[in-house]
Amino acid sequence: MPEIEFMQTSGGNVMSDRPTWDEYFIKIVELVKSRSTCLRRQVGALIVKDKRILSTGYNGAPSGCKHCSEVGCLREKLNVPSGERHELCRGVHAEQNAIAQAAYSGTSIRGGTIYVTDQPCVLCAKLAINAGIEKIVFKGDYPDKLSMDLLQEAGIRVVKYSD
Ligand SMILES: [Zn+2]
Ligand SMILES: [Zn+2]
Repeated sequence: MPEIEFMQTSGGNVMSDRPTWDEYFIKIVELVKSRSTCLRRQVGALIVKDKRILSTGYNGAPSGCKHCSEVGCLREKLNVPSGERHELCRGVHAEQNAIAQAAYSGTSIRGGTIYVTDQPCVLCAKLAINAGIEKIVFKGDYPDKLSMDLLQEAGIRVVKYSD
């Protein structure tokens, strides 16, 4: 059984409404997510190290390619259940885009934390592990047990955030 930590928002304290770092990054990743062009689930990702944002990503088609929102999505057409047959969709996952964006600019994300609006799938989990990500903070659920098993096996800290 994968070990997941749970974290709840402080709800702001009496003296100030200043958000904690986690609240701050979670709010930003929600904004990142709003740029997604996926027909089924909008996801945002944010890679942070030493309280600095290194990279962002949302799910959508690769640069220069048409979005699912323009040409349709085969997974949508075939009614593929959530979490299955990722290869049928032209979209790049939010976490994959955030990792690719770091590579594009030559930014090391080793030792970083990735904030994601949903629990990462196994493909993204594998990439995050090998890119040197040490901690994952996510909000929504996603049906992928292998992902959680691998993250735990690799010693990644997995934190589930809730409002
Ligand atoms: Zn698609
Ligand atoms: Zn994924």
